Amino acid sequence: MNKKTTEETNTFVTMVAKKQNWKLTRDDELLHILLEGLTKNFNRYGYFSCPCRAAKADKEKDRDIICPCLYSRPDIEEYGHCYCGLYMSSAFFETKKSPKSIPERRYP
Ligand code: SF4
Repeated sequence: MNKKTTEETNTFVTMVAKKQNWKLTRDDELLHILLEGLTKNFNRYGYFSCPCRAAKADKEKDRDIICPCLYSRPDIEEYGHCYCGLYMSSAFFETKKSPKSIPERRYP
């Protein structure tokens, strides 16, 4: 398996944000932590498992939490940002507010 670098992961999340019309967090420190987490998960499991959730190391079982996860869209619609705070709506981005802790939609 080809290992990814954080730069490649950054390219990936930037592409996702552009395609979905989302913004990436403006918090550089948070962005760095999440990019490191995503890269580490990719290199460990072979897929971009969410850096804020425990993976099962089984692609089928983790399918819903492969970034951008299944919950990102409803979370961005409802709260303005995803569970990790990586992606956000343009409207939320414009408020310059920091992402807050939001309920886990995965296992309500
Ligand atoms: S919560 Fe955000 S960072 Fe985590 S998988 Fe979902 S979209 Fe990616």
